[in-house]
Amino acid sequence: MKYQSTRGEAPVLEFSDVLLAGLAVDGGLYVPTDFPTLKPSDLSAFSEMSYAEVATKVLTPFVSPSINSNELETMIERSYSTFRHPDVVPVRQLPTEIGNDRYLAELYWGPTFSFKDVALQLLGRLFEHELSRRNTGVTIVGATSGDTGSAAIEACKNRDGIELIMLHPRGRVSDVQRRQMTTVESSNIHNVAIDGTFDDCQDLVKAMFSDLQFRERHKLAAVNSINWARVAAQTVYYFTTATRIAGPNEQISFCVPTGNFGNIHAGYIASRMGLPIDRLIIASNHNDILTRTHLSGVMKIEDVEPSTSPAMDIQVSSNFERLLFELSGKDGSWVAAAMADFRSSGSMKLPKSVARHLRDLFDAGQASETEVDQEISDLYETQKEFLDPHTAVGVNVIRRMKSLNGPAVVMATAHPAKFNSVVEAATGVAPPQPDEIVGLENRNERCVNLPNEVSVVMDFVASASNQ
Ligand SMILES: *Cc1c(COP(=O)(O)O)cnc(C)c1O
Repeated sequence: MKYQSTRGEAPVLEFSDVLLAGLAVDGGLYVPTDFPTLKPSDLSAFSEMSYAEVATKVLTPFVSPSINSNELETMIERSYSTFRHPDVVPVRQLPTEIGNDRYLAELYWGPTFSFKDVALQLLGRLFEHELSRRNTGVTIVGATSGDTGSAAIEACKNRDGIELIMLHPRGRVSDVQRRQMTTVESSNIHNVAIDGTFDDCQDLVKAMFSDLQFRERHKLAAVNSINWARVAAQTVYYFTTATRIAGPNEQISFCVPTGNFGNIHAGYIASRMGLPIDRLIIASNHNDILTRTHLSGVMKIEDVEPSTSPAMDIQVSSNFERLLFELSGKDGSWVAAAMADFRSSGSMKLPKSVARHLRDLFDAGQASETEVDQEISDLYETQKEFLDPHTAVGVNVIRRMKSLNGPAVVMATAHPAKFNSVVEAATGVAPPQPDEIVGLENRNERCVNLPNEVSVVMDFVASASNQ
């Protein structure tokens, strides 16, 4: 398997180089030059296999020739043995008021109760494996709107060869999310609160990666969803979920609470690999740039308005570039020009063919804050079950999708206890808190506050890096 940049001007690499590189040197994102395909007989076998077995089968072609199947299998088994549910990603049915044959895939049973754990538990081990093989170290720099940070910290703490600097927008992550990051006691973990939005944090990270000298000197690496290995790891649960619910030739749809487009892009990859997906539904809160783009063919940035689902408070969805590359027929020079223009003007008109291809497989819907509250309170009233606000966006959007062929699954991206104040405000009842979360309140926090200034943040990264 080889990987190319979405902007066409970076060297073609194999998996382990892509893993450590994160962003390509031309500013693009790495994507496989070809997708491996699975046959219906492979898919029917998946319904009898464990999560780790399916993951090994799905991911082996992506990591070859860098990593062999046995090494991968060991890392996968260790990664998913940290999950609190034997199925890793269990599936349950939603009440028929929401629709017939509607399901939730619970992606949140990992160490930090976030779906980010699914990819990051594996990513931490892949990094450690590759760094020890090369006898070197890296400085991982990341931006988080909440959940990536704690999942990345949990995946990298106390791992040799890694210093991790995690930026989050100050005051814009929940208390639980902040404490999950700042209470981890490990000398290789550095938390930074930035005076700005999540997009500002993401831009700071991109600026550091674009400074090639700085990037080289401190051996920067990324765990944001621009890292291909994360997207790849997320394809697995589309296969396990689909093959548990539907036959190998039966169409199925997925509705995905979307921020940076990593999760739903993994669904797109699964479809390219042969999973019979009817529709992929982008679910947004009121920060709905992708929903507007789907409807109008014009991607236009507006101000980010904070919501109760902060992981989706995004206007620039990094992984959308990967989809644009595929939908344009892998036209790297068009992607490079279009992205540059988008960054400077804040707007991009999709070529007609790209807009049409987008609508071939994707649908999109938006849920208001009132609808989210209503969705959380309805499910509690009827089932005595809790939804986190991100998942509630997805449930609200699927409720309105009437013309799907076959079953449809909402990706449940966070445990309700991580957003307990929103859930309690909607239902009048506090969701039960897992012991691991309750225990956070009494622990010391470690975090530095910095302004939204590239030079200041770079100085901090330089001093924390071990290079
Ligand atoms: C990260 C996250 C999302 C958005 O996922 P993307 O892959 O960035 O689209 C949605 N919900 C929760 C709870 C998240 O943590």
